[in-house]
Amino acid sequence: MPNLYRRLLQLIPSPCIVCGKSSRAAYSLCPDCETDLPWAGPCCIRCGEELPATSPDPRSCAGCTLHPPPFASCRAAFRYQSPIDSLLSGFKFKARFEAGNVLALLLAEKIAQHYANTTAPELLLPVPLHPKRLRQRGFNQALEITRVVSKKCGIPFSRNAIVKMRDTTAQTEMHSANARKQNLKNAFSVANKAILQPVKSVALIDDVVTTMATVSSVSRELRGCGIRHIEVWCLARASR
Ligand SMILES: [Zn+2]
Ligand SMILES: [Zn+2]
Repeated sequence: MPNLYRRLLQLIPSPCIVCGKSSRAAYSLCPDCETDLPWAGPCCIRCGEELPATSPDPRSCAGCTLHPPPFASCRAAFRYQSPIDSLLSGFKFKARFEAGNVLALLLAEKIAQHYANTTAPELLLPVPLHPKRLRQRGFNQALEITRVVSKKCGIPFSRNAIVKMRDTTAQTEMHSANARKQNLKNAFSVANKAILQPVKSVALIDDVVTTMATVSSVSRELRGCGIRHIEVWCLARASR
């Protein structure tokens, strides 16, 4: 495509990914729809679940106080509610990359703001897909989100430091915490120890965190590899 034509295309506002009207913004989301998105509210700093107004501890939920997860924090840009759920499934299952790109940009802005005041992780790691799922889908949504975050925040990423060895049943179909843990036992493996060896802190990136079983399983592998500090960032946090 000639350069001039490409530059002209960038000047034309693309339709909003939620309402379809002209977005009048630098990306495909109009200001009204952006305001109305289900932005994450006050959450437990460890697991990212929304804290009830009656919580005795304003920072941590009772579950995390009793059994802290194997990562330092899990943070999300959004609650997994309409229209985030349908935008995300459009991105994952119908390859609607514009929706994925806009949501990843909003997450990247939140992450950049967060690390303006605190030490950023040395490396970003997308939660991997099993090679069979990757072939079916054609892309790993977590990797596509990670690319946007990496560019915005200036933090490098590795796409192949961890791999998924077993094609597991969807975690949301497992009905007990123990079944979810067993389902993911040895599912992930560190494939590139050389990349991780000098690294002490990482941030795992995923599209949706629901049960924490996946990010916990990856975190345990990373801790076994000497990573001391693990943070988790996701586009949307669903309640268990
Ligand atoms: Zn709109
Ligand atoms: Zn918690």
